[in-house]
Amino acid sequence: MLEVRELLVFYENMLALNNLTLRCAEGQVVGVFGANSAGKSTLMYAVSGILLDIAYKEKVRGGERITQFGEILYEGEPVGHLKAFQRARRGLVLCPERRRLFPECTVIENLKIGGYLATRAQVRETLEFVLELFPRLQELRRRQAGFLSGGEQQMVAIGRALMAQPRLLLLDEPLLGLAPSIQHDVMQAVPKIRSERGVTVIVAEQYARPVLPYVDYAYIVENGSTVLEGTRQELLDNPDVRAAYLGGMG
Ligand code: ATP
Repeated sequence: MLEVRELLVFYENMLALNNLTLRCAEGQVVGVFGANSAGKSTLMYAVSGILLDIAYKEKVRGGERITQFGEILYEGEPVGHLKAFQRARRGLVLCPERRRLFPECTVIENLKIGGYLATRAQVRETLEFVLELFPRLQELRRRQAGFLSGGEQQMVAIGRALMAQPRLLLLDEPLLGLAPSIQHDVMQAVPKIRSERGVTVIVAEQYARPVLPYVDYAYIVENGSTVLEGTRQELLDNPDVRAAYLGGMG
């Protein structure tokens, strides 16, 4: 479904992604784990097309030069040249780090904004799915998003991304700043999104522990390159992964 080949991204002279290669088959849940600054968000931005928008804006205002090399294939076709909205229209949708909700809009309004490329029937049907997936949002539907807790905001952010009718959903650090019990509430939505909506999911996260149980396959990224990859079980069995990313789990 997605194949990233030898992706290289420079912010001015700073190498953020260094020949990163990644594959994700249709129906899989794939994890991308790495410390702060490993390059996870840059990867998510590059795949979703946001990086092109950022590069363009930087160029217009005479800011830093962002360069990107390598190939991004989505459903067998190169999409690296397409704008973010064109990729979103094809079902390649990013749920960005730090949620980026419209704080003064209500929960329902935020969700509906996500559906701006969808038909009315899709909006109605997906809204129903999102409110079943996160029943808490049903109670909060008229509340302004800015007043919600971090976990609730994350649920809105995922819901909003679902409203855009993804076929491949990119979740960038969905657990950032959330308490462990809330992390579980957020992650348990992932298998339902896959089984009930047929959506393929890539989750980038700093800590593997809360995410690894939900993935089929994962990549560990350091300094913009993959240092290790494998199935969930291979990573769980790997002593280096346990020491560095699972904090002595098991
Ligand atoms: P985090 O957990 O902090 O979000 P990350 O793994 O998502 O980390 P990126 O945000 O992709 O990492 O950053 C990769 C590298 O690129 C870092 O060294 C970061 O400082 C640098 N970087 C990111 N965005 C920019 C930018 N706009 N200009 C310059 N350098 C940047």
